[in-house]
This record gives sequence, C-alpha cells and structure tokens, in this order.
Amino acid sequence: MLEKIKDWLGLSEQDDYVKDYFYRSNMKAVIYMSVVVICLELWMILRLTRIVIISWPRSFDWLYSHYRNYVILLVAGVIALIYAERFIRGKAKNRKVGTFILWTFSIICILFGIQVGVSSYAAGEQVLTFLTMAVFVFCILYWKPLESFFFSSISFFVFYVMLDRAIPASAGTKINLFTMWITAFMVAMSAYHQKISEAQKGESLEGVNAHLTRISNEDELTEIPNMRCFRRVCTANIVSSVKNRESHTFLYFDIERFKAYNEKYGFKKGDALLKQIAALLSEIFEGEPIARFSDDHFVAYADISTMEEKINQFRERVSALDSEVRLDVKIGSCTPAMASNDISLACDRARVACNALKRQYKKFYLAYDEALEKKITQKQYIINNIDNAVANGWIKVFYQPVVKCAGGNGELVGLEALARWDDPELGLLPPFMFIETLEEYMEIHKLDQCIVTQVCQHLREDIDRGRPVVPVSLNFSRLDFELYDVPQFLNSVAEEYNIPSSLLDVEITESALTDQFGLLQENMTRLRNKNFSLWLDDFGSGYSSLNVLKDFTFNVLKIDMKFLRDFPANQKSVPIITMIVDLAKQLGMVTLCEGVETREQYEFLQSVGCDKAQGYYFDKPLPRDAMVAKYYETE
Ligand code: C2E
Ligand code: MG
Ligand code: MG
Repeated sequence: MLEKIKDWLGLSEQDDYVKDYFYRSNMKAVIYMSVVVICLELWMILRLTRIVIISWPRSFDWLYSHYRNYVILLVAGVIALIYAERFIRGKAKNRKVGTFILWTFSIICILFGIQVGVSSYAAGEQVLTFLTMAVFVFCILYWKPLESFFFSSISFFVFYVMLDRAIPASAGTKINLFTMWITAFMVAMSAYHQKISEAQKGESLEGVNAHLTRISNEDELTEIPNMRCFRRVCTANIVSSVKNRESHTFLYFDIERFKAYNEKYGFKKGDALLKQIAALLSEIFEGEPIARFSDDHFVAYADISTMEEKINQFRERVSALDSEVRLDVKIGSCTPAMASNDISLACDRARVACNALKRQYKKFYLAYDEALEKKITQKQYIINNIDNAVANGWIKVFYQPVVKCAGGNGELVGLEALARWDDPELGLLPPFMFIETLEEYMEIHKLDQCIVTQVCQHLREDIDRGRPVVPVSLNFSRLDFELYDVPQFLNSVAEEYNIPSSLLDVEITESALTDQFGLLQENMTRLRNKNFSLWLDDFGSGYSSLNVLKDFTFNVLKIDMKFLRDFPANQKSVPIITMIVDLAKQLGMVTLCEGVETREQYEFLQSVGCDKAQGYYFDKPLPRDAMVAKYYETE
C-alpha cells in the first residue's frame, strides 16, 4: 500500500532505464513546446514592430518595456530548443544542464503568463496568456507529482494574488482559477503516470528483446556464439575487406576422445568439459570470431599469421584438461577463397579436411586444398556409383599367382583375387582408390560379395572346361563380418556354383583382428567347420602380430611384403623372416611371403623353407583373360 502511495506520488526510486526514458520524453516535449513558443514570440515581435513603424518615433523606455518579455521568452525558447535537440541527437550529455534549462524555461513561461495575464485582467481583458502558458508547462512537459503540485500551486497562487491586487477577484474568477489549477495539476499527474508505465513496458520489452537476441546468437550450453552469429560476423568481415579475406582462414576443431570422456564421466561432466573448452577457445582466439559448430566441434575465423601458435596452445591446454582420457584436438582449415567466400561452405570444407585426418594418428592439422578436393570428389563418385559398378560389371577380378617356394620351382599353387574398378570415365582404378572409401561408408560388402560371386563363376567355367584349377584366395574386410553373415554367404554362393570349399580361401588382414574379437572368432570357427582355409593377410604390418597368433587359428600365414622391401640391402630381414617361418611351422601353419620381386628374394625364401610365394617376380595381378591365357591354356 505504502509502495503504491509512494509510486503515485512519484517518490519511489526508478531504475536507470525508466529515468532515462522519462528524461528523453521530456526533452522531446521541450522541442515541441519551444517551437510553439518561438513561433508565437516571433509573431508577437513582428506585430509589435509593425505598430512601432506605424507610430514612429517611440521612446527607449517604451521599446524596452514592450519588447523585453517577448525577447526573453524567445531566447529561452531558442536555448531550450538547441539543448533538447542536441540531447536527442546524442551530442549534449550533461543532464543537470538540461534540467536547469527545463526549469528556467518553464519558470520564464509562467512568469510571462502571470505578467501579461495580470495586465490584461487589469485592462478588463481575459487572462488567456497565463492559462496558455500553464497549459504549455503543465500539460506538454512532464513533471513528477510533487514537483507539479508545488510548481502549479505556486504559479496559480502568485497569479491569483497579483490579479486580486490589481482588481479584487470575484467569486466566479476564484472558482475558475481554482478549477484551472486542479485541472493543470491532474493533467500533469496523469501525464507523469502514463510516461512511467510506458517506460516500464518499454523496459520489459527491451529485456525480452535482449534475451531473445542473446539466445538467437548464443550457444545454449557453452554461451559462446552460435553458428548463426558466427556467419553474420564473418560475413561482415569478409564483405568489408579483401585484405581480411586473404589474411584469415576458417578453422574447424574436433575434440578427439570426447566420446570416451563422456562414457567415462557421464554427460554432465561432458557438458562441463565442453564449456571449459569453449572458454579456452574464446580466451586463446580472443578478438576473432569463434562459435560452437555442433556437439564437440567448434569453429574460428583466424588470422593466418598467428594461427599456428594459437592452435598449439589450444591443443596443449585441451589435453591438460584431463590426464586419463588423453584429449586432443584435430583441426581442419579452409580459406575463404577455397570456398568462393561462402562461409557455410568454408566451414563445411574445413570440417571435411578435419575428418580426413580421422585415422592419421600423427597428423593433427590439414588444410582444404585442390588435392583434397579431388580426393573427396573421387570418394563421392565411388559412393554414388558403387551400385552402378556392381550392376554394370565395372568391378573386375584380377588374379595374382601364388607359387610353390620351398622344394619347388615357381609352380602355380594358387591365385589371389584382387578387385579392380574398371570405370567407363576414370579408367582402371586400383583398390586404394575405393576400398577405404567403401569401408568408411559401410559399402564394402557390395564389392566383396561381387568378387566372391565372380570368382565362383570363373571357377565353375574353368572346371567345366576341364582346366587345372587352383584354389583362389579372397580378401575380406573386417566390416564384412559386421555387415552380413560371411560364412553363410560364401557357402551359399559356393553351393550355387557347385565349388568345393577347398578351392576358396579366406584372407583376413591382421589389423582386422584388433576389434570385434568375439564376432571374428565365431565367424572363423564357422568357416573352418565348412572347410574353408583361413589365411592371415599382411602378417607383421600391425602392432598386434604375435597376439593375433595366440588368439586365432589360421591355416596360412601371409608374411607382409614390407619385410622383403629392402632385401638384401637390409640384412635384418633375414633373421626376421627366418624366425617368422620357423614360428609359423611350429604353430602348424603354411607360410606365404608377399611382395617377391627378385630371383634373389625367391631363392632366399626357398632357403629358409617358406612354403609359398607371391609377387611381381612371378606376375602382377592379371585380368581374368590374361590369367587364363597364361596359366590354363598354355598346353
Ligand atoms: P593384399 O591383399 O595384401 O594384396 C596384395 C597387394 O600387393 C596387391 O595390391 C598386389 O598387387 C600387391 N603386390 C603383389 N605383389 C607385389 C610385389 O611384388 N610388389 C609390390 N609392391 N606389390 C605387390 P592391390 O591389388 O593394389 O591390393 C591392395 C589391397 O587392397 C590388398 O592387399 C587388399 O588388402 C585390398 N583388396 C584388394 N582386393 C580386395 C577385395 O576384393 N576386397 C577387399 N576387402 N580388399 C581387397
Ligand atoms: Mg590379400
Ligand atoms: Mg597382403
């Protein structure tokens, strides 16, 4: 209740926004009022000047007493107008000066009204000048209730006393004056309350607006800018300066092992970590646009000259955030020029560059350039066309001979089926141009099933033609075992073409055996039960070679070609290969060495008792026709 009374009387403390709004409104009102006063006074001065000219000459005292009031009011009006107008344009800032001008101008108006009103009254005319000035001051300008009460009371009281002194006021005049005073006061009060409520509404609207602006520009979790805001800021930078475009690049950050952190500590701590990372990013890239892209991905638009140092600092500080999970950051970049100045495209390309680092353990930074662009275009082509390639016969099987080594002399004992993509536009593509991509997009099974089917068809044809067929080894990706039932598929295709399982060998690369342990064990057992021979491909290329031998059972061990690469220059290969061959023998495995390129290498393998060999020394992978012509139709 007390608060309401205080509010009504204008005694409660208003916040800065309301005070500012009130003051500003008053300054606008001063403009309207001063313009009217200036026009009126100019008109009055012109009228008076006309009289002076007609009835010339006039004494100085006459001129002074007649012009003085008009000129004072005119000057006061001009000063008030100048100040108020400068304030609205943001040029005048001193509010005390403004308040002083407002009061002085108002008091001058009222005094003028009193003086002219009283002399008119004494001359038997009406008191309109005073009333006009009272309306100007109390109804156009805004006063606090107590101010308006005292100001209007004193004005009307002084006017009444002076008027009564000139000619004693009648009861009617007193009542009229009293009514005018009450009216002026009420109007001033209502104008005040109306302004205050307008100000309060404006304030809450502005608050809501500020909140809306914040949430539309800010990432909810980390409170750093979101992509919308980032795009806007970068657009302004890029559009405004060519220099800026050339000196800056877009960076895309991916937090490595964030998933592991989340799994270890839970989502709540994961969120807290993202906030810490965002804070680090804004600290290190201070003054440069940054944003959260999504999940644990962030972007920045950074100056190229200082970028490296900042990236290093960011990586160091992110990895220091947790000692157990070993957090790290991978970064891709793309310059505005590489994305035709399109910010979304640039961020996307920086992301593509970052993703291209996925399986590269030593590299943490990659820039999007023409070479990467070409690689990605190729990748896209492969993914978009794998179905076409299978359906249109672009997937071809090339065969590379496997020959007898120890105790033999290069006799053909097997063939490895190797895939080629014979593209009508791009020509013949080797596996490194499509295997990884197909694995990445989980499409590898389409290729492998196509190869299995073709190999079985070829074997059937060869058997039917009475050719002296040898077993064919087939390469399977680790993902095949996740994507479909390999033993069942292989068995059904073999049955369809009536191929004995002894003619089909299954190659699994060593690196495939590092994860999905149980799934692979189970598949291998089923394959073995169906009498398919199991080959361990690329033995020695990974980090887990000996463990693999302990945990899995294979029939054939294919020794990776890297051991022969520098032979005989690097004599270390001799004991290593000898040891692997011995070890495999002890474990009951047949040995096959890949990558044999010279007679010397072949003879060495024979000398250490390696069972089979494969390599360019015997033959490169051959198209089906060439292989048939060379190995099956020589007689
Ligand atoms: P891999 O299974 O280890 O195949 C041996 C690779 O070594 C073949 O490369 C072959 O051409 C190459 N090579 C053979 N002898 C020599 C030699 O004396 N010197 C050198 N430098 N290289 C030799 P290719 O055909 O390019 O195949 C590469 C890899 O692609 C294969 O390695 C295999 O892992 C994969 N791959 C090939 N075909 C298929 C397939 O049908 N399915 C799956 N999943 N992977 C396949
Ligand atoms: Mg192989
Ligand atoms: Mg191999």
